Amino acid sequence: MQDVFNFNAGPSALPKSVLEKAQAELTNFNGTGMSVMELSHRSKDFEAVHEEAIALLKELLAIPDSYKVLFLQGGASLQFAMVPLQFLKPGKIGNYLLTGSWSEKALKEGKLLGETAVGASTKETQYRSIPALDAITYNENDAYVHLTSNNTIFGTQWKEFPTVTHAPLIADMSSDILSRKIEIEKFGMIYAGAQKNLGPAGVTIVIIREDLLEEEVDHVPTLLRYRTHSETNSLYHTPPTFSIYMLNQVLQWVKDQGGIDAIERKNEEKAKLIYDAIDESDGFYRGHAEKESRSLMNITFNLPSEEENKRFLAKAKELGFVGLNGHRSVGGCRASTYNAVPLEACVALSDYMKNYRR
Ligand SMILES: *Cc1c(COP(=O)(O)O)cnc(C)c1O
Repeated sequence: MQDVFNFNAGPSALPKSVLEKAQAELTNFNGTGMSVMELSHRSKDFEAVHEEAIALLKELLAIPDSYKVLFLQGGASLQFAMVPLQFLKPGKIGNYLLTGSWSEKALKEGKLLGETAVGASTKETQYRSIPALDAITYNENDAYVHLTSNNTIFGTQWKEFPTVTHAPLIADMSSDILSRKIEIEKFGMIYAGAQKNLGPAGVTIVIIREDLLEEEVDHVPTLLRYRTHSETNSLYHTPPTFSIYMLNQVLQWVKDQGGIDAIERKNEEKAKLIYDAIDESDGFYRGHAEKESRSLMNITFNLPSEEENKRFLAKAKELGFVGLNGHRSVGGCRASTYNAVPLEACVALSDYMKNYRR
């Protein structure tokens, strides 16, 4: 079994050292004689894992004490519905900034539950860019303003976030959380499925400002209220214990790498290798995203023809590159360079791109 270069878009690469540690303690966690999966979610041993994961996330992202960290299930996709269920009351508007497929899906759920507006969209230009901050339309009665910080499918990323004061800014950060420094205070709420940058699928992180937990939610099913989870420290029902354990290991790994600043620098270096291969190719590789909107996490590009895309991808597969096919809705190629993708994988891809062109 040879090592592969894993550029999967999600679920995606996990740090090898984390997988090895999980393997080593799989049948005997912390001297319990049991797997962490076999422990009660209310046991002391699991509680320590749960608390450590919350503390590490708070430390790494510099989350102020006025925010709660929740571990939910249902993926980012359930958040598309939980947000309007909670906050989109009659007479209010869910304001969505559209930058790709995931923001469209968030809007779709909002529309099912109340009145919505599109405050900005780059759909007409195939989602190649992020809207200019001064081109966003707000409404006096916005319940919230929703954006997708990184567009996993189109390969664009907000570099700077709007300052929104009349309503909470809510962000889906599934594909770039913990990849760069962010100013948490700009947001009322942040959510992310874990399976891109944080761990395996199964746990969804919610970072929510405490005042938003005061919202009247009598009409919302118990499990779908943020308050239910905040009042019980995410132990209202059985949380995805193994995913939380893995999340904790990944967070510890990020800390060992030097924290968010070090990770961000490394991500910049990794993405640059591949963008340079695109930019120095005399147009052989064409990036989908406009330069100033380029994602550091998902790099999307095309070769001169569909034929060439196929040949490039087939040859890449032979060489051990995994997950370079573009999303079915966009086509072409996509390299996802999440936190756990090592620099060597990006060097190898950049070299392959140069060699292939030659
Ligand atoms: C992957 C992804 C999702 C979907 O997440 P699930 O956990 O599968 O529901 C939503 N938003 C973004 C930005 C994503 O990258």
